[in-house]
Amino acid sequence: MHYEQPDERGRFGRFGGQYVPETVMEALLELERHFQSAWRDEAFRRRFHHHLEEFVGRPTPLYFAERLTEALGGARIYLKREDLCHTGAHKINNCVGQVLLTLRMGKRRIVAETGAGQHGVATAAVAARFGLECIVYMGEIDMERQAPNVFRMQLLGAEVVGVAEGSRTLKEAINAAIRDWVTNVRTTHYLLGSVVGPHPYPMMVRTFQTVIGEEVKQQLLEREGRLPDYLVACVGGGSNSIGLFHPFLHEESVKIIGVEAGGRGTGLGEHAATLSFGTPGVLHGAHSFLLQDRFGQIANTHSVSAGLDYPGVGPEHSFLKETGRVTYVTVSDREALEAFEELSELEGIIPALEPAHALAFLRRLIPHTSKEDIVVVGLSGRGDKDLQLARQAMEEYHHG
Ligand SMILES: *Cc1c(COP(=O)(O)O)cnc(C)c1O
Repeated sequence: MHYEQPDERGRFGRFGGQYVPETVMEALLELERHFQSAWRDEAFRRRFHHHLEEFVGRPTPLYFAERLTEALGGARIYLKREDLCHTGAHKINNCVGQVLLTLRMGKRRIVAETGAGQHGVATAAVAARFGLECIVYMGEIDMERQAPNVFRMQLLGAEVVGVAEGSRTLKEAINAAIRDWVTNVRTTHYLLGSVVGPHPYPMMVRTFQTVIGEEVKQQLLEREGRLPDYLVACVGGGSNSIGLFHPFLHEESVKIIGVEAGGRGTGLGEHAATLSFGTPGVLHGAHSFLLQDRFGQIANTHSVSAGLDYPGVGPEHSFLKETGRVTYVTVSDREALEAFEELSELEGIIPALEPAHALAFLRRLIPHTSKEDIVVVGLSGRGDKDLQLARQAMEEYHHG
């Protein structure tokens, strides 16, 4: 099986592609050309790793979760600490890569979309670091729900533009960012935040995030002298998970599990588990699994974690689901909140609610493992952003 690159039409198996108007097509071709030449250029890669080290704080630790391992009583559990990245999550790895590419293309203006604001904050931080103009499109409802992140972006010098169309959340923010990009393509780069969208974005974002899995491979070889038995990570758009998984796809002994947001039920609208419950279709320029109704309208989604609350998923994950190389499971809001509390109490680490989904799955996985097994969990971000929400939800559970 080929896991390296999409084909020349930007497809992973039957997924991916470029379902875009002609005007966008030109911009995508230009972007792909620049990305390919940049990634072949040793100096570009060195610059990328230099800024990951100096600005982001890489390599992030591979942390042995000793008390969690004891509590669950099976495999040795390691956490890849992306929560220690600057701005609090893995998203900034991709932002550094794309900002360096923007500079290489001779552009000085960046547009981005954001849902909860995490990608917007990471983009604004890197744009500030390199003195680029930065516009972040954000649904008006999200701006209300995520007011502290709006202020963070503004402090970092970004202009946050509210989007009033449709559901006034992430989906419309992406459309607005694409419109701006196509109108201003000679000066502007669209910095997409996950492995979604038309080719070359899924391949490019994955390439920048693969640093996560490459570090894990090296760190675990030094620590344990071997590969892990299991990898577990949460899947929203799919960037932190594919970054962890990709360097291990060819290692047949490594079992790989992606965890989706099961929300509060299995009905359409109650979850954001695209691969578990969705069907193939086209959204934001790519063919992939989607949550849609029987008329093909994109469904509403729900998850306690904003970062997983998206009705689509990267095309490479759809491919990995179909080939069976990766197993996708769901974890409910309630299970994620329990894991959020558990890691805080046992390890002194407050995880974001997104990776709390991956951690929650350990309760189901570990009983099937032995003490000699090794599990690596992608801890994609920290929980500071989720404190208020988690407190409210926990109160509701305890009183309801
Ligand atoms: C945005 C986000 C995610 C989900 O995005 P992916 O592209 O699936 O990684 C997961 N964890 C955290 C902490 C996030 O901020």
